[in-house]
Amino acid sequence: MKIAVVGCGTTGNLIIPKLKGEVFIIDRDIIEEKNIERQVLFEKQDVGKPKAEVLGRKLNLKFKVIDLDHKNVSVLKSDLVVDCTDNLETRFLINEYCRKNKIPWVYTGVVGDLGRVLLFNGDFCFRCLFTEVKGLDTCTTLGIDMSVAKNVAKVAIEEITKMKSRGLWMNGDWVKVKKNETCPVCKGKYDFLEGKRSSNVKFCGSSRFQFKGDYREVKNKYSENVVGDFYVFDDRILVKAETIREARKKLSVFIGV
Ligand SMILES: [Zn+2]
Repeated sequence: MKIAVVGCGTTGNLIIPKLKGEVFIIDRDIIEEKNIERQVLFEKQDVGKPKAEVLGRKLNLKFKVIDLDHKNVSVLKSDLVVDCTDNLETRFLINEYCRKNKIPWVYTGVVGDLGRVLLFNGDFCFRCLFTEVKGLDTCTTLGIDMSVAKNVAKVAIEEITKMKSRGLWMNGDWVKVKKNETCPVCKGKYDFLEGKRSSNVKFCGSSRFQFKGDYREVKNKYSENVVGDFYVFDDRILVKAETIREARKKLSVFIGV
């Protein structure tokens, strides 16, 4: 069974090593010193390297260091998607892709001392449950309780194991979400597959801001991805900064605009 896992942070570190099958991992972020305590598989010498790459090499799994978006979302093509991300926008995208392509997926969420594992198959919809992108607590504001994260990981692994033994599409503990009359996804409107998202993103539990765009020229100027406070990819730059203002300013100086 091919399993795609999105997110190699705290819950990803706990869940990914326990998964059996053809596991493929995706993450967009870089390891920071403060991650090491909670993201149990990362060590001091991994700081500054991409999470997916480090975990992929340690566990001998295929990996991709990408920011999942509407252009690359087809990497999720698999038998099961496991969401270990920390943000709603990516989950909306996962929900739309999985609904459209009839792939079951598992949501794991830890915000403060609240943990949740939800199982979605083609009929049930995450967007019916969570309708607003703004105004919800994220781990940036509440932090993550490690004992809750461990419980969430345990439940998720148990559920995935059960699913595998009885078949992914059997009715069991799947959430039965009441249809939300205003849900765009259930009306066939896939906003996030069509490219909806906020332009700049502050990563959860990270001191980096992401700017999407075509940065191939910038990347070609340097022989490495890492240049001071910047981590340069073809389609995005991560900027280390305290505030979005500072990040913007640093970026404009860096790319010379
Ligand atoms: Zn819906």
